Amino acid sequence: MRVIPPIANNFVAGEDVPAVLDHARDLHDGGVGAIINLLGEHYDDAANAAADAAVYTRLLEEFADAGLDGRVSVKPSQLGLDVSEETFRENLAEVVAVAAANDRFVWVDMEDHTTIDATLDAFEANVTDYPEMGVCIQANMRRTPDDLRRLVDLPGTVRLVKGAYDPPTDLAYTEKARVNDAYRENLAYLFEHADHLAVGSHDPAMIDYAKQLHEEFGTEFEVQMLMGVREAAQFDLASEGYDAYQYVPFGEKWLSYFYRRVRERKENALFALRAVVSG
Ligand SMILES: Cc1cc2nc3c(=O)[nH]c(=O)nc-3n(C[C@H](O)[C@H](O)[C@H](O)COP(=O)(O)OP(=O)(O)OC[C@H]3O[C@@H](n4cnc5c(N)ncnc54)[C@H](O)[C@@H]3O)c2cc1C
Repeated sequence: MRVIPPIANNFVAGEDVPAVLDHARDLHDGGVGAIINLLGEHYDDAANAAADAAVYTRLLEEFADAGLDGRVSVKPSQLGLDVSEETFRENLAEVVAVAAANDRFVWVDMEDHTTIDATLDAFEANVTDYPEMGVCIQANMRRTPDDLRRLVDLPGTVRLVKGAYDPPTDLAYTEKARVNDAYRENLAYLFEHADHLAVGSHDPAMIDYAKQLHEEFGTEFEVQMLMGVREAAQFDLASEGYDAYQYVPFGEKWLSYFYRRVRERKENALFALRAVVSG
């Protein structure tokens, strides 16, 4: 078995299902739920998409057997969206069927702007029958207020994030301050109109704003952060009584994910270094 170097191990739970179950158990003991993502995306071969769907179904069964609040978060292009919309829908439906049989929750990540319609359509097709689902929405997209209006009328939960991709400027806000303003506006809309929502952000300002909106509207919310990023804050939130979840990537394709984490913001290189130095 290959060993993931300690610096990458801060961001990735391991290469296989037993490693990720161990990590989820540790989180569970600290009051934090696990949202597991098998690393993999942009398959142009249906067999790869089916193989990853099978890993997700195994994870859901193992979580149920272990009595853990383990959830999964799938990427559309990992479940076959680049092969065809139908392949993605079939694989998602299979994962959701096993989640339903095991009373477990399924998140759908959002990828680049070209995938939004297909992702929301597949989400809607499944969530209508099985409401224990959520979908990620990116605040940097100009279309997001319209998408949120559609989603608050459906069962299921929205995870609001700032957006990790670089869409064209006619479709998205690019200035950081404008994205933050959009995040706040979308958050306020969700607190006012949704039954439940997820704050997918490490930003203390957004988390404070969510707490304030919760006081105002009473809407339940959870905070989701990535493995290896502000982990102490995740456990602090849980001990303060908030619902906190850690998004936990795992799998053999950890190297490119690890580089992305370090590269995406120059501060992250320092954060990564600090994480290693402070253990
Ligand atoms: C659970 C989860 C799921 C996600 N899913 C998706 C998805 O499906 N699709 C998608 O496009 N994007 C997704 N993202 C990524 C998201 O879009 C952002 O790119 C990413 O979260 C960075 O934005 P931020 O809100 O965390 O804060 P930023 O705007 O990056 O940072 C704001 C502040 O947060 C704090 N902070 C940020 N990073 C760190 C750090 N490493 N250590 C310490 N403090 C830090 C600092 O105070 C910083 O000033 C997800 C993010 C999370 C947390």
